[in-house]
Order: sequence, then C-alpha cells, then structure tokens
Amino acid sequence: MVNERMHGLGAEPSAIRELFAYGMARKAEIGDENVFDFSIGNPSVPAPDAVKDAALALLEQPAVSLHGYSPASGVPEVRATIADSICRRFGIEASPENIYMTVGAAASIAISVSAVTEPGDEVIVISPYFPEYKVWIETAGCTCVEVPAHVPDFQPDIDALAAAIGPKTSAVIINTPNNPVGAVYSRASLEALADLLSTKEAELGRELYLISDEPYREIVYDGIEVPYVPNVYARTLVCYSYSKSLSLPGERIGYIYVSDRMDNAAQVVAAVAGAGRALGYICAPVLFQRVIAACVDEPSDVASYAANRALLTEGLAALGYEFVEPQGAFYLWVRALEDDAQTFSDRAKAHELLLVPSDSFGVGGWVRVSYCIARDTIERSMPAFKALMEEYRG
Ligand code: PLP
Repeated sequence: MVNERMHGLGAEPSAIRELFAYGMARKAEIGDENVFDFSIGNPSVPAPDAVKDAALALLEQPAVSLHGYSPASGVPEVRATIADSICRRFGIEASPENIYMTVGAAASIAISVSAVTEPGDEVIVISPYFPEYKVWIETAGCTCVEVPAHVPDFQPDIDALAAAIGPKTSAVIINTPNNPVGAVYSRASLEALADLLSTKEAELGRELYLISDEPYREIVYDGIEVPYVPNVYARTLVCYSYSKSLSLPGERIGYIYVSDRMDNAAQVVAAVAGAGRALGYICAPVLFQRVIAACVDEPSDVASYAANRALLTEGLAALGYEFVEPQGAFYLWVRALEDDAQTFSDRAKAHELLLVPSDSFGVGGWVRVSYCIARDTIERSMPAFKALMEEYRG
C-alpha cells in the first residue's frame, strides 16, 4: 500500500515536466539542435560572477561551521542582510525576525499556505496559474478555488474575486510578474484587491492573507513598476526566490517575508516556522544562504530575456500568432490554433516544437512558450512555427 494521492502525483508528472522529459529524450534521439524546447522555466542566462566568487570565498572558511545546520529560520546575519535590503529597496521597516529562509519559492508557498490555513479552508488562485499551487493547497487539506483573471489584460478580476471570497476563504495567492501570462499587476489593481480583502475581512470577521509569489520580481521590461505588495496590503506574506533573479534554480534558495505591517505578524512568523518544521525542511542550504547575503543587491540580467522576447514576439506576430504581450517574467502566452490546447501541443510536437498546453494552468485554448532559452533556438524555430501555422491555416 502507498498513499494514493502521493502515488498519483509522482506517477503523473506535471505537464511541464513531462514535456521537458520528452524533450530530453527527443534531443538524445535527433540532436539538441533539432528540438525547439520551450517547455520549462530554467533560466538561460548564467548566474552572475559574484555568485561564484562568493561561493569560492566561502569554501575557504572552516568546513564545520560552513556546512553545519543553521537555525530553522536561517542564518541571523543573512536574514538581517535581506531585511536591510527590503528596507532600502521598498521603504518598509522589515525586521530580520520576519524573514524565514526557504528552499525556493515552492517551499515558501507550501509553507505559507500551511501556516495560514486550517484543513477545509479555501485558497483562491487566479487562473491561468502556476499548476503546483493546487498541489500545495490540497496538501494543506484545503480547496483550490480558481478565479479567472480579467481578460484581455490578465489583471485580477476584482468582481469575480469578490464573488469567490466566502466564509471558508483564508488566502489569495497572486503571482506578479506572472507565470504563465507575463502580466505585471498595476498599483491600481493591487490597491483594488487590497480594498476588497480589507472589506471582506470586516464582513466575514476573519483574516484574509495575501500570499505574493514573486520569483520574477526583477525580470520586467520597459521599466514597468512592480509595486511591493506589503506596502499595499498589510496581511501579506512575500514568497521570494533567487531561482530566476540570480539563475540559481538548482540551489534551492529563497525566503518568506511576513510583512511587519501585519497586526498579527508575530503569530504568523511562528506559524511559518511551525509549518516549515512540520513539512520537514529543517533549514535552507547554509552555503547558499551565505552566498545570497554576499549577492543581495546583484542585478538580474534582464537584457538577454528582453532580446529573446523581442525576437519571439516579432517572429510570431509576423506569422499571424495571437499572444499576450509580456510585461515581465520569461513566458509567452500564445493562443492555440484550435480549442483543444493538448491536441495543438501534440501537433506542435510533430514539428519538434515543445509548447506547454494551458489546461494544467487552469484554462483551455492556449500554450505557454518559455523564452528563457538560447536565442539561436528561437531564431531557428521560426520555420517550424510557420509550418505549424500553415498546417492549420493553409
Ligand atoms: N512560482 C512560480 C510562479 C514559478 O514559475 C516557479 C518556478 O518556475 C516557482 C514558484 C517555484 O520556484 P522555485 O524554484 O523558487 O521553487
């Protein structure tokens, strides 16, 4: 006997991972250069040199303390450095006690959801949404309630959210800049959401938490503003990660910041620590906690993604594809050429184009195209996109 749900999750990998695995196998079969793999969000720009320099310098330090456990919430100096950076960048009095180091945004969200819900509660996500949210919400014994984004701008739909929030709602997860659509939530949208949550808190007599998943915070184009969510809504938990901003997804490092402006911050901080403990995390990787402290203000290399975005959007527009112009992150949300996104993705596969069907993001009829890949792959993929279009439109 094994746990049925866990077996299901393991036996059927996510659509993204499945396509990524197919791509690896296909590349081995026909050569890397012949497969146009737009499946996964693995950053294509290398981590900054500062990361390597910091890691090498740290490795000269005494091994016992360097590789030992840290306190569950993280190395105190690292938390202080991050709190100081939040304070400088976003003008909020962030205290180190409110920072909890994690193994990336995935753990940050899983921990945050467990910390602020009871089994049976509802957690709202805005569709299309990162598919793993549902897994983490259900692991906490809660129900994932999908509320479609406002179309065509893919900002939160305040009326639809108002209708979805009820007596069992405990949290709303937002992701800006957004995977998969690339939308960045405007200050006006966030303020409207904050007003709604405050009104509903008063109406329902319970706390409503905003879980802000922001691994793409720094990856934005054309200088667009990414408001700091705790400055707009007090009851916010920021789930941050260095996977994308510093291209370190394999090192598993990020943090949760429990807003100091929350009236029950101390209680939430303790619940976060408790959830991290219950989920078996012990502490985040100590070497990389220290690397992060040394690189806390290191800029992200957005220029490469901006060039990829221009190449892909111009190429696909010229071929007649319809898509959402991304304001941030490194994904393009492209309208499938038929209603069934899975069939469209399968037909794209025949042209060696690996495009993730939208169904697992909670909506039909689209595909997600990750452009955190080699520029040359995007250039060489255009004839395949053209052939796919011609197959449908003649
Ligand atoms: N949230 C979103 C929206 C993501 O796109 C990802 C990864 O692609 C994650 C969370 C998980 O990131 P991490 O590697 O930091 O766990």
